[in-house]
Amino acid sequence: MSLLDKFDELEQTQAQLSEGGVNPTNVIVEQALSPTESIIEGRHTIMAGTNNYLGLTFDPACIEAGQRALAESGTGTTGSRMANGNYASHAQLEAELADFYGYPYAMVFSTGYAANIGTMAALVGSGDAILLDGDAHASLFDGGKLSGATVYRFRHNDAESLDKRLRRLGETASRCLVAVEGLYSILGDRAPLKELAEVTRAHDALLFVDEAHSLGVLGEHGKGRIEEEDVEADFVVGTFSKSLGSTGGFCVSPHKALTLFRYASRPYMFTASPCPSVIATTRAALAQLRARPKLRTKLWRNANRLYNGLSQLGLQVGPEPSPVVAVMAGSREHALACWQHLLEAGVYLNLILPPAAPDGSALLRCSVSAAHSDEQIDQIIEAFKNLPP
Ligand code: PMP
Repeated sequence: MSLLDKFDELEQTQAQLSEGGVNPTNVIVEQALSPTESIIEGRHTIMAGTNNYLGLTFDPACIEAGQRALAESGTGTTGSRMANGNYASHAQLEAELADFYGYPYAMVFSTGYAANIGTMAALVGSGDAILLDGDAHASLFDGGKLSGATVYRFRHNDAESLDKRLRRLGETASRCLVAVEGLYSILGDRAPLKELAEVTRAHDALLFVDEAHSLGVLGEHGKGRIEEEDVEADFVVGTFSKSLGSTGGFCVSPHKALTLFRYASRPYMFTASPCPSVIATTRAALAQLRARPKLRTKLWRNANRLYNGLSQLGLQVGPEPSPVVAVMAGSREHALACWQHLLEAGVYLNLILPPAAPDGSALLRCSVSAAHSDEQIDQIIEAFKNLPP
């Protein structure tokens, strides 16, 4: 038995995914034409699975800011924030994030994944506990592993289950981090954050909220589920790779301890800082998010149009309308056939297979953008009309 033998099984799974056409885990975007259109397999395709919620990837102000930063500051920092990679623009973006959230402290990471694992592993350690929502993203589970704390799951979106788990921890509950998402990435359902925060506080634990899919999407000013539910979290984490259309991640907090994570968070310390052009486009996108609330209005109009259109076709959709629209697709094989049919009809979306999909059934995940036109949303709905049996 060699270290390489385990890849035989993975090779088989990948071969199965490629039967019948394009492998959904290896789609090549031959050309990105706009936030909502690409060329895939030589075909003009509507992108309905991108997380490009505000459609800012081709925004002229963001592109101009990125081009200027490239010309003025070069292509990369070639080092970590701890060493030579700490530019004024990183600190400016941190100040802008702190101002946006109204929290005093902010830290920028190189990805959203690094923000999650880096915050969790700095904060908790061996002898501490992490309580994770059962549907939480892989990066939160990985943060738990990296931290060395004991990780427990509570039932998805269930404050009673959280309370029970915290009670079981007894006095050590005050050394527990409760980690949830604002808007869940697979089914598009919101967390009952007020209830979860009350339970967390009652046990003197700390609350960590990943707003990856809710920044720019929820709340009057687009701050996410914390704004919608009027909850102050201990740590709010998010990514630049969805509504802000770039790459990178952040954490904001009311706790001064966050400033010391810079010397305690290995995923922050031992990786290169984001490129100046990435920081520049992110800052420009954050400014757009703040200045153009109509983008959010349009996003929700599109989300409701798609959600209602697909449910009127008799499809089983996620629990509530949101820019993440899940369509339950039964078995792996059926979901794969539907995915391939949709791609051939000129619609790209995400195929989500168990265990990433909850309850053991596969699903097709659409994500809506403010940049979709009514016609594009209708074309997506139209493509769902003739799914294979
Ligand atoms: N959290 C959630 C809920 C996510 O969905 C993702 C990305 N899919 C991340 C964190 C990681 O973000 P990034 O892609 O910026 O690493």
